[in-house]
Amino acid sequence: MRVILLGPPGAGKGTQAEKLVESLSVPHISTGDMFRKAIKDGTELGTKAKSYMDQGKLVPDEVTIGIVRERLAEPDCQKGFLLDGFPRTVTQADALNEILTNLNTKLDAVININVLRNALIERLTGRRVCKSCGATYHIMFNPSKGDTVCEKCQGELYQRADDSIETVGNRLDVYEEQTAPLIAYYRDKDLLIDIDGAQSMEKVLADICQALEDIKQ
Ligand SMILES: [Zn+2]
Repeated sequence: MRVILLGPPGAGKGTQAEKLVESLSVPHISTGDMFRKAIKDGTELGTKAKSYMDQGKLVPDEVTIGIVRERLAEPDCQKGFLLDGFPRTVTQADALNEILTNLNTKLDAVININVLRNALIERLTGRRVCKSCGATYHIMFNPSKGDTVCEKCQGELYQRADDSIETVGNRLDVYEEQTAPLIAYYRDKDLLIDIDGAQSMEKVLADICQALEDIKQ
């Protein structure tokens, strides 16, 4: 199956992607992972991507589309794939369409994991990290038995700048702005499947698998 996975920060997309590629037996195509690997390996693409990221800029569409085009042409993608982190824009979605047409294939589904903004903020701002040993907790879902100190080493727990309400709010704004047109784009093409992401991880996965089973028939 050829599937795109969409979901805001905090929706548990990473975990779902891991489980889904297992159950679908398809490769997990994460542009974020591919960039990180290219940068680590020092490839031409990695150097290019890094120069943009170092300036705090987004990697341009042509670079991202290029890396996806090459990856989807590899033999292991013939049986399908799970795309994660791509497309992010309608331009990229159009490019993906063209790539798949050239490969004589098409998308089966776009999974959209929905979680209300307030719940995402609760999940994303609740993380606490130990200053001494780096252990991570969550004030609601995985609190330290030591309350405000680390249960392992009594170190002080703090909230990383990334997890502050301002940063989290900005990340969610950027996601919503970027992704709303994409959601409309795939809904128009009758490919979008909405999944309730407020449920347990297991239930979310089961719902996704069931929805994919349904479209096979
Ligand atoms: Zn600690």
